[in-house]
Amino acid sequence: MYKKRLLLPFILILFAFILTNYTIFDNTLTHEVQQVLQDEGIKKQHEAVKKSATDSLTVNYIDVGQGDSIFIQTPSGKTMLIDAGTPEMGSKVIKYIKSQGINKIDVLIGTHPHNDHIGGIVEIIKTFKIGKFYMPKVTTTTRTFEEVLKAAKSKGLSINVAKTGVVIDLGDGIIAKMLAPNSSHYEDLNNYSAVIKITYGNTSFLFTGDASEQSEKEMLSKGYNLKADVLKIGHHGSSSSSTWAFLKAVHPKYAVISCGKYNDYGHPHKETMKKLRSLGIIVYRTDECGTVIAVSDGKTINFNVEPGDNLSGSEIKR
Ligand SMILES: [Zn+2]
Repeated sequence: MYKKRLLLPFILILFAFILTNYTIFDNTLTHEVQQVLQDEGIKKQHEAVKKSATDSLTVNYIDVGQGDSIFIQTPSGKTMLIDAGTPEMGSKVIKYIKSQGINKIDVLIGTHPHNDHIGGIVEIIKTFKIGKFYMPKVTTTTRTFEEVLKAAKSKGLSINVAKTGVVIDLGDGIIAKMLAPNSSHYEDLNNYSAVIKITYGNTSFLFTGDASEQSEKEMLSKGYNLKADVLKIGHHGSSSSSTWAFLKAVHPKYAVISCGKYNDYGHPHKETMKKLRSLGIIVYRTDECGTVIAVSDGKTINFNVEPGDNLSGSEIKR
């Protein structure tokens, strides 16, 4: 009798213990499973972001008003900056690049020594770690040019000659080559412009600086494959660039014009816009769209903005 009385509470306690433990165990298990699932989810998300980052080529035509500045990020994470606008625009370009979490520019190119292209480069050199720096072999006596040389020298940065045939290392999956300048002497400084073609998968981009008719003719006579999906129109859409023969050879689907709103030159010129329109080329302009971003996954190219209205600089109403 005494034993029986003790047995019941014992059995009850045992049951309670098993039940509680089972519940705790079960809860722990559920929690662990949840944690694993959550970790997996986060990992997958990170992988997806990483994958999309490593799978695309991003070309940023930064709005620097009247001037050029193009920042490129490749699938392997390499960076290239073609020009940096006027000296006043240097800080804007720096801010833009830094906002992407980048502190090194693997390849820096000053297409030609005009203020609206190399002006901002002085601050760029001072701010970022620079891998390779290219400029065409021509000197000017302008203060901006002297400043660029001074900045490069004080950083121990040597200047590589930008000329046709130069192959640029932008990491796996990217073919980057200079197609101009093709001569060593020009009367017009614009024709010294380094012209660069980048190919990623089935997509390609052509960057022309301010290369004008003479340089375009040379590239055509060399028989280069100029075909590109996106053409950065030469010299801010000036009529001194974009000859019929050149546009037809490049045969772009998209054109990007980097120019300032109400600029003094009337860029882009009427003649250029007429040609682009008649060839059915979709035009993006920094004066209308702000910074234009083109992203290629190797198959298709997507833009961050809607195309412009195809008017010339002098036709845009103030
Ligand atoms: Zn220019």
